[in-house]
Amino acid sequence: MSVEMKLTSTEIRARFLDFFASKGHFRMPSSSLVPRNDPTVLLTTAGMQQMIPFFMGRETPPAIRLTSAQKCFRTTDIDKVGNERTLTFFEMLGNFSVGDYFKREAIAFAWEFLTQVMQLPANLLYPTVHPEDDEAPGYWSEIAGFPDEAIVRLEDNWWGPPGASGPCGPDSEIYYDRGIEHGCGRADCKPGCECERFLEIWNLVFMQYYQDVDGTRTPLPRKNIDTGLGLERLSMVIQGKESVFDTDMFRAIIDRFAELAGTSYGQDVQKDASLRVIADHGRALVFLAADGVLPSNEGRGYIFRRLLRRAVRHGKLLGLDKPFLSDAADTVINLMKDHYVELGLQRDRIVELLSLEERKFGQTLNTGLALLTALIDDLKQKGHHAIPGEDAFKLYDTHGFPFELTQEVAAEHGLSVDISSFEQAMRRQQERSRASATFTQGQDEQALAALLKRVGSTEFMGYDGITGSGKVVGLLVDGEEVESVSAPQQALVILDSTPFYAESGGQIGDRGDISGPVGVFHVQDTQRPLKGLIVHYGFIGEGYMRVGDAVQADVIGWRREDTIRNHSATHLLHKALRDLIGKQVEQRGSLVEPERLRFDFSSSRALSADDVEHIDRQVNEWIRADYPVKTTLMPLEEAMTTGAMALFGEKYDQLVRVVSMGGSKELCGGTHCAATGQIGLYITVQETSIAAGIRRVEALTGRAAEAYLRQRSAAVDTLADRLQTQPDMLEKRVDQLTQELAAARRQVAQFQRDAALRQAEEIAERAQDVAGVAVVAAAVAAPDDKVLREMGDMVRVKLERPGVVVLAAAFDERISIQVSVEQTLTKRGLHAGRIASVVGERLGGKGGGRPESAQGGGKQKAELGAALDLVAKLVKENLR
Ligand code: ATP
Ligand code: MG
Repeated sequence: MSVEMKLTSTEIRARFLDFFASKGHFRMPSSSLVPRNDPTVLLTTAGMQQMIPFFMGRETPPAIRLTSAQKCFRTTDIDKVGNERTLTFFEMLGNFSVGDYFKREAIAFAWEFLTQVMQLPANLLYPTVHPEDDEAPGYWSEIAGFPDEAIVRLEDNWWGPPGASGPCGPDSEIYYDRGIEHGCGRADCKPGCECERFLEIWNLVFMQYYQDVDGTRTPLPRKNIDTGLGLERLSMVIQGKESVFDTDMFRAIIDRFAELAGTSYGQDVQKDASLRVIADHGRALVFLAADGVLPSNEGRGYIFRRLLRRAVRHGKLLGLDKPFLSDAADTVINLMKDHYVELGLQRDRIVELLSLEERKFGQTLNTGLALLTALIDDLKQKGHHAIPGEDAFKLYDTHGFPFELTQEVAAEHGLSVDISSFEQAMRRQQERSRASATFTQGQDEQALAALLKRVGSTEFMGYDGITGSGKVVGLLVDGEEVESVSAPQQALVILDSTPFYAESGGQIGDRGDISGPVGVFHVQDTQRPLKGLIVHYGFIGEGYMRVGDAVQADVIGWRREDTIRNHSATHLLHKALRDLIGKQVEQRGSLVEPERLRFDFSSSRALSADDVEHIDRQVNEWIRADYPVKTTLMPLEEAMTTGAMALFGEKYDQLVRVVSMGGSKELCGGTHCAATGQIGLYITVQETSIAAGIRRVEALTGRAAEAYLRQRSAAVDTLADRLQTQPDMLEKRVDQLTQELAAARRQVAQFQRDAALRQAEEIAERAQDVAGVAVVAAAVAAPDDKVLREMGDMVRVKLERPGVVVLAAAFDERISIQVSVEQTLTKRGLHAGRIASVVGERLGGKGGGRPESAQGGGKQKAELGAALDLVAKLVKENLR
């Protein structure tokens, strides 16, 4: 093998980018791990992600041939880390063609790079293609000389579409044969097998179709190429290593951790697995932190926490008692900072962040583990097999011990955790904390009151726009005023004037950024805790911020726009409800968010489907009328005489703001569209009762309404497709299927009865004669007790003389028995209830009933033969 050239990973990355640059590709820098303008994904998972707008024709690319080395993170792979080839964070090398070259060139480039530039032996490389792709195999033989039968067909080689519809196409993966000693030994082991022999290194995606929601594919006018080559995996192959962790990208990190733990890599399988996990997670955490991800309990922040916690726990297994991640962060940064300059620039912040979180979690873990171990010992002694949900919840709630960890540790001891009672306890707690939320804000409020007195009220500039400049007049951390705050601290920021809307009148607070000369504050919520004072809640994402800084404030535009659409629509909805139901409709609450609106009102009756349809039509008509939205300030009295709607029980100032659009006129301080046409579309999605005499309507507007309709329509298409009909025939088709199903059920029941009847005949023929009485005691197959009883009756009829019939059938765990005794025989001392009782007891259960008919059962299936043998004996003993 020519791998003795042993390129470093830095050299491999450079040669890849240089190679494609020499073929006319423009070098795109890696985008951030946090995707911009794409709320559908948490983190960047592939090189093509930042190219999507180019592929879709939404943006113009810098060139039609592009190449990149992209930072990627895959949450779906977290649990796989520990094997030889899977990482959470990895680098993906790629080349892309935006409507330029296609399959032939993509295959030729890949082949040339691997065999010429990387000098990998051609006989160890295996291309795979999709079974329906009849072009790719031809190119593989023409360019690389593979005979057709050597090209593996894999069903999995298909990419996309990313949503219900979109671009898609076959792909072609390139595998590297690591040698038979890595294989599973099966005769049919080949690329695509789950074992470690064939390693997928490169995937070439041929985006050639557009798939509609109904599944039909049409060829794309401009076909695209997207490829992904894992840098760590290629380095492993080029450097002749056993796993990605043995390459130059990881060995130093692993060795540093091993050194800290006083062990060495390659001594102990268990320890090696833990070393791999913390090396992967540690590296990923450094990159996530560098891209601005902060620990929290949701979204990306939660992924950060989950990785950190898993790493700390595996550190514990290795006996690492002191914080180790922050220490090893330097190793990661030194290894990677030449190519990823952001790591070097942010070194101090990254190390500080990691050590803080690690210390916090380390303490939590120690306390929690001690408590959990004691609990497990106790449960085991008492012979229990599950940890009660309440205990798991207490560990989580009082001690911050993660639930997943409780599950993991429990599993190590062969115990399970009662999830449903854990969730119940969680819900109860959430209800309690909602009730007490107002109480905890007391401390902030005192400091804010002092601040308001000193600096005066905030000027709100957000009616006219979403950006503005201002000055920082106050900063608060943990309920105290401070002079400055730095990243990544949580803080409250107060400006002299701001375009951020503070939550009120149901409309939620704005979010966005406040940028100062040396730092950026990310606003996560805006509130008005005291009259006149607008407070921005959030954290410093970069640098620091001081009192007195001149700043630029920018509200997130799309969020504000979606919100005002919902706010204006709420006014129209209010008006439409009043017109329809009457003056009894009074607003009792509302919530106006970017995603939806909610409106609570007094009404003695529910809205019928017709009412809802009427309201939707009316509101949409007013939207199409495109009424201008006007706001006027006027004295309260004047506003009331003009008939403006005011909020029930609300206290207003002397001077009020009146918002009118079309026939609607309301007292309102919120932000609105310029004209109703901007709302675009209105749809009621739910109408419910929330208390006696109070109804709630939930509705969507604009983009959300459009997405909702699209989704619904796609669902109808999918259903029609599954049921093999057209959307407008769906109802008919479902009726037809329901009838077919009912008929089939009747038929099955009939078959079961027929089968039972046949059994009954056979059994009756095998009746024993005991002192002139026909006795039947048999085990039969029956689906339930009812059929079993019917069978008993049938047998008795078939006997054609007085008899005793005992039938037994097994359902699931237990055996059920039915006993019947001919009436004339009951007068001669036989009693069905007594027989059932004796037989049932023998089966480990019980039985009883009337003299002619009784039932019973038990669970000891092994006793069935003996139990049935008792019947003849009982008859003999009791018959007079
Ligand atoms: P696998 O099935 O092996 O996890 P994949 O099919 O998910 O890979 P692609 O989505 O095709 O991979 O990504 C392209 C390339 O990126 C892969 O060929 C591989 O070299 C690399 N890659 C993908 N996932 C990982 C990972 N978790 N760790 C390291 N490299 C990866
Ligand atoms: Mg793949």
